[in-house]
Amino acid sequence: MKRNVYNFFGGMAIYPSRVIEEVRKDLLEYENTGLSIFEISHRSQTFRNIIAQTENNLRQLMNIPDNYHILFLQGGESLQFSMIPINFLRNRNRPANYIVTGYWSKKAIKDARREGQVNIIWDGSKEGFTRVPKQYELQFDSDAAYVYYTTNETVEGIQFPMKPDVGNIPLVCDMCSDFISKPIDVTKYALISAHAQKNAGIAGVTIVIVRDDFLQDVPDNIHTMLDYRPHVEKCSIYNTSPTFAIYTVMLMTRWLIEDIGGLEEMNKLAQRRSAIIYELLDKNADFYKPHAKPDSRSLINIVFNLPTAELTQKFIAEGAEEGLVGLQGHRSLGGIRASFFNPMPMEGVYALQDFMLRFREKYH
Ligand code: PLP
Repeated sequence: MKRNVYNFFGGMAIYPSRVIEEVRKDLLEYENTGLSIFEISHRSQTFRNIIAQTENNLRQLMNIPDNYHILFLQGGESLQFSMIPINFLRNRNRPANYIVTGYWSKKAIKDARREGQVNIIWDGSKEGFTRVPKQYELQFDSDAAYVYYTTNETVEGIQFPMKPDVGNIPLVCDMCSDFISKPIDVTKYALISAHAQKNAGIAGVTIVIVRDDFLQDVPDNIHTMLDYRPHVEKCSIYNTSPTFAIYTVMLMTRWLIEDIGGLEEMNKLAQRRSAIIYELLDKNADFYKPHAKPDSRSLINIVFNLPTAELTQKFIAEGAEEGLVGLQGHRSLGGIRASFFNPMPMEGVYALQDFMLRFREKYH
């Protein structure tokens, strides 16, 4: 499949040609079943094999130990903003600690507050969400029910280079936009959640990786679908699972293992891609203004501004004419955002680099 349009949207993300071609084939018939992948029942052995394969791929890629459950849930990451405090803050006489680094972590607090005490232990809003905190700036409540943070703020393009050290407090994170983009030590987390539609598959499924012992104190007054435990017991088939979305996670993780070679390799590619554009931004600082402070720059979402709103509009429109689509910044921030999710090929990065250099020449 030949592509001459590159998708820089913050979501839906770009997909590898291999995966799109596999989906096309399986839409007609999935593995000699005589059925389209759409028609495979969530109660069938075929789907149980798909979900088992998807889980195995994730365990292999992320080195996930057996004392962690992998769940495939619905409701997007926004539902995790509620499920996390409902399960782990409700009925506790202990606070949750939230690190506020941008649009998404700020949003998560609203629902957490409905369930108990939330202490914001660091807030980057006064600095315009341009950086993540340093370890020495973080002081946790020793009795905190959990510490919550967002590994990569998709809107502002800032990313934690390393996870915060929280000692023995359970660490919970929204990993939506840098999930399976680099190796991480899963054992340092009590819970990781990430919707699929950035690096892992299509919209409709959210992956939750949760440590078994973290589920021990979950209260019993939770509506069934909002309680993690029924999903654990029923292996993510408590009700009708989002079968097609889970199947795409199987394909994306297989592609990452077989074609890319795993998360070390993926991270090298992510470093190479973003370095090209950040270097260009730094060399042309009289025209392009990066949003993030250098040590908090995201490898995934590169956010920058142009000298005027008019030039910003021209940049987006002329980029789109050349097949570089989705370069507009998030509606809350404006400016430009170039998102490099896992499948972005180097050709897409070079095309953007070339366009940015020519654009500067033309309008500077
Ligand atoms: N968290 C992050 C980091 C995001 O980037 C997004 C959306 O892009 C969300 C949460 C919300 O996700 P959803 O639309 O699946 O609810």
